[in-house]
This record gives sequence, C-alpha cells and structure tokens, in this order.
Amino acid sequence: MPKTEEILVPDLGDFDKVEVTEVLVEVDQNITSNENIITVETDKASIDVPSDKTGKIHSVKVKVGDYIKKGSLILTIETEAKSSVDNKKSKVNKASKDKATSNQTTDLLVLGAGPGGYTAAFRAADLGMNVTLVERWPVLGGVCLNVGCIPSKALLHAASVIDQAEAMKEHGINFSNPKIETKKLMLWKENIISKLNTGLSDLANQRKVNLVHGFGVFESSNRILIDNKKSIDFEKCIIAVGSDSASLPGAPHDERILNSTTALNLTKIPKKLLVIGGGIIGLEMACVYHSLGSSITVVELTDGLIPGADRDLVATYTKYIRDRYQNIFLNTKVSKIQTVKSGIKVTFEGQDSPKAEIYDNVLVSIGRKSNGNNIGLENTGILYDKNGIIAVDKQMRTNVPHIFAVGDLTGDPMLAHKATHQAKVAAEVASGARSAFDARVIPSVAYTDPEIAWVGLTEIEAKEKNINYDKSKFPWAASGRSLAISRDEGFTKLLFDKDSGKVIGGGIIGPYAGDLISEIALAIEMDSDAADIGMTIHPHPTLSETVAFAAEAHEGILTDLYIPKK
Ligand SMILES: Cc1cc2nc3c(=O)[nH]c(=O)nc-3n(C[C@H](O)[C@H](O)[C@H](O)COP(=O)(O)OP(=O)(O)OC[C@H]3O[C@@H](n4cnc5c(N)ncnc54)[C@H](O)[C@@H]3O)c2cc1C
Repeated sequence: MPKTEEILVPDLGDFDKVEVTEVLVEVDQNITSNENIITVETDKASIDVPSDKTGKIHSVKVKVGDYIKKGSLILTIETEAKSSVDNKKSKVNKASKDKATSNQTTDLLVLGAGPGGYTAAFRAADLGMNVTLVERWPVLGGVCLNVGCIPSKALLHAASVIDQAEAMKEHGINFSNPKIETKKLMLWKENIISKLNTGLSDLANQRKVNLVHGFGVFESSNRILIDNKKSIDFEKCIIAVGSDSASLPGAPHDERILNSTTALNLTKIPKKLLVIGGGIIGLEMACVYHSLGSSITVVELTDGLIPGADRDLVATYTKYIRDRYQNIFLNTKVSKIQTVKSGIKVTFEGQDSPKAEIYDNVLVSIGRKSNGNNIGLENTGILYDKNGIIAVDKQMRTNVPHIFAVGDLTGDPMLAHKATHQAKVAAEVASGARSAFDARVIPSVAYTDPEIAWVGLTEIEAKEKNINYDKSKFPWAASGRSLAISRDEGFTKLLFDKDSGKVIGGGIIGPYAGDLISEIALAIEMDSDAADIGMTIHPHPTLSETVAFAAEAHEGILTDLYIPKK
C-alpha cells in the first residue's frame, strides 16, 4: 500500500538557515533514496541535499530563493509501505541494499591523496586492484607536496644560496646584497609544486586510478559519503587523511599570525618574526626568514630545541644560531597574544621570562594534529584516541580488518617517508600479498642550517632503556670536504651495541646531514658493525667519509685524526 511521507531538511552543519539555489526534482517524478533533490548555498559551500526515501514525488514545498532550516519540509513523497517480512529481509541484506542505493562501488577506496594516500593507491593499482582515490583538495600530493616538505625545501634552498654568497665575503668573493622579489620567489616555488602535481595526476591516470575530488566522511564501515552528495561503497579502505597544524588556544585571528601553510606564502618579509615552538618545522621557517632578512626570536616551552634529538647535536645547532638570531627563549611560555596596530604583542611567562614585545609576524609552530576526528570514524567501529590517532598493526590494519590506516594519522613520527612505507604495506596486504611494516628505524631530519639528522637509537633513549652502548664521533673540523665548503661546526656520531658491536644509532649535524643519514640507516637495517662501514671505500673528499671515519675511530684504526689510546 502506498503511503505519503515527508522529506525534511537534514542537519546541514553549523547553519541557521540556508538559501535554496536549485530544485532538482518535480511532482510525479520517481526518485530513489540518496538522489539529490535540492541544492542550497551556505557562506562556505553549495550543498546538494539527497532524498532519504524512494518513491514518487507528490508535492514540492520549496522553490528557488526560499530560506530553509533543519526540519523544514522539502517535499512529500508516495512510498511503498514495507511488510514485516520485507523489513526483516532488508535488515539481513543490509550490505547489498546499501550497495544498490550507493552511487559507486570500488575494491579499494583510499581516503586522502598525500604521500600515504597516493602511494597506497598507486601500489594497489599496480597489484591489480580497482582503486578509487578520494581527495578534498583539487590537487594530489597532500601536505608534503603542497604546503610542507617540498615548498619548505625550495625556500630553504633559496635561503642557503643567500647564506653561501654572504659567507664567501670572508674569503674574497663579494656579491652585492640580494634584492628579493617575493612574488617571483613564490612563483618559482609554486611552479615546482605544480610540476609535481601534474606528475602525480599523470601517474594516477596511467594506472587507471579513479580520482574523486571531495570531502569524504564514513557512513559505515563499507560506505563513504563524498561532500554530502554521493556515496561510494568499498570492499576495503586505506585511510590516509594526514594532519593539520595545531593552533594556539586563545590566539586571536589575525593574518599576521602565521601557521606553517601561510608562512610558506610570503608576500612581505617581516622585520621581526617570533617563532613559537622550537621544533623542526618552526626552525626550518626561522632559517628561511632569517636568510631573507628577518630578525628572528624563537620561544620554546621546554629546556631545549628539537625535542627527540640528542642534546650534543642540538647544542651545536643552538650555538650556531645563537650568534645569528635575535633571541632564543627556552623554558618560556607564551601567555598572551594581542593584536595591536603596530604588530602582534606577545607576553611571555617563565623563570627568566623576557618583557612583552611587539613582532611584525608570529609563526605558531607547536605541532600537528591528526585529521582523524572529522571523518566519521565513529560510524565504522574503528578504535581511535581523543587526538584522532588510529592504532594499526604491522599490516597497517585497524581493528576493523578490511580498513587500514597509514601516515600522520597513525601518530608519531609524522613524516612523509614513514607514510609512503606504511602505504606500500597497506596496499600489498589489501591486495592479498604477504607484507608487514618491519623497518627497524625511521630517520629524522631538520633541514635547518646546519642540518641535523638522526636515526635509530638516540643516547637519550639508550640511557632511558639502560642499553649498554659505545659512542664514536668524528668532528667535521677534521674533514677536508667540510672545510672546503667553509664549514667546521658539524660532526658525525655512531652508536654501537657494546655486546654485539652492531651499529644501533647515529646522528649527524652539518650541511647535507639529511642526505648522509641514509648510510647509517642502511647500516642498522643490514646489521652492520664498524668494520662493515669502515671497510666500505668512501669517495674522497666527501662528507660521507665522516661516517667511515667515525666507524674507524670506533675500531681504533682512524688515521685522519689522532685519538690517544684509552
Ligand atoms: C611545513 C612542513 C614541512 C614538512 N617537511 C617535511 C619533510 O621535510 N620531510 C618529511 O618527511 N615530512 C615533512 N613534513 C611532514 C609531512 O608533510 C607529513 O608527514 C606527510 O605529508 C604526511 O603524509 P600523509 O599522507 O599522512 O598526510 P597528508 O600529507 O596530510 O595528506 C592527507 C591528505 O588527505 C586529504 N584529506 C584530509 N581529510 C580528507 C577527507 N575527509 N576527505 C578527502 N581528503 C581528505 C588532505 O587534503 C591531504 O591531501 C612537513 C610538514 C610541514 C607542515
């Protein structure tokens, strides 16, 4: 028996009332559940409202230009009343019914197209899966390519060119002061990004990955809703929605207060910049702005910069920047931020807290937060913590076996190379292959000047865990290559397990430390000892020799430095 039912405006989010901009259906039309019936416009976006019923439209109660709100009547519809038998059947067959009303189906849905997401999608497609990659932004590459690793490294390269030219003044080569055209600099950076964006789109097309642009929210553990418009059913899913910069509670909204994304889009170089947070991202941006001419102050809550890295690396780095930056305030908290006409007034709190000061810009760089809290995980049964971090096993599976998670939303370390390695494992396991994330170590790099890189066990961890270790350090002041690039502050350090003699960790500070650290990572993965490294012939003169010299020093066979016998 047909019965007349009402379709009302659903909860559209944080809006009092919205304007109807299109009516997509008419009287007597047959529609199915999930089919769009009207379009409304909010100040943020235009949203299609779908029907939640299947049947024949009896009357349409809204027209273009009407303002409606949650619960307003949109239309009445004649539906077929279900018998109790039908009802039971529909419950039993929920999965297949869901499929029938969804717009699209896929073997593997990958949510988020950052390094984790696109790598997973590409690997799974290479393994023969039918893959749909969903991304809210119009381009692929995620934070890393668009507002992270790549743009920051382009600007750090520009900074390094300025600094190297300046440094050569002491050695008889004088360039005039650089004239910085920020527009052109930004254009160069944007061109690099867009070249790589195009490259990723091409790679997706070549692999026949189905790209869908829109914001995905889970409706269930087998279905995702895109932009509130269409749904996609999936057999398996890899979540790779990444992270966003954390904001400072209580900070006012003012465009002079930057985050890592806005700091990468320089329009004007501040005279005075305060960087809140002495972690890697803040210090990399401090390095860029310092070279471009800003006076830099860094404020850090704890007693040292770059938490997690060994203190000898950080001490050398801090000594280097202390001479160059205006101030480095440790053990200091920012207690108040006010916008005033002449800039941003910042008040500090702490043992030796400095006086309040006005800066042209303030960069808030206090960490990153997972995007896992706004994707409807509560509808999937996946376990996640209050910070939106999802726990995964070595196969990158969540507690819901057909759903995997990779990248920043699986927690620290939030690094692109961790995301890509996890992604390959997730794609392989999803496609039925045997695979596991069993990397022993994940290297960390601060691309500051000087660069700092470390991998494996740190001395901090070795002491905490009571691990019996030996240390061997080679100072770059004794490296011909380091002196030839006019630098002598760096060093290379290796840590060995005292019992087995195997390399268990290492740290490097100096230019290109980020490139050099891979050798130590490989040594740890390959179970190498000092002889394995020392007997590997390293080209001369290179900075890579310092790794071999540190190994030889451990063996007591180093000739490039005199180390008295113990
Ligand atoms: C300034 C800066 C510099 C950095 N430098 C380095 C570096 O040198 N080396 C390094 O290893 N790491 C660096 N990082 C960190 C690195 O960018 C991240 O670790 C990496 O991008 C994480 O990859 P991911 O795939 O997990 O997530 P992301 O890169 O964050 O990608 C997630 C993607 O998911 C999309 N998304 C989110 N929610 C949804 C949704 N609901 N629906 C659809 N799409 C969605 C996002 O738009 C995004 O494209 C840097 C970060 C910043 C901010």
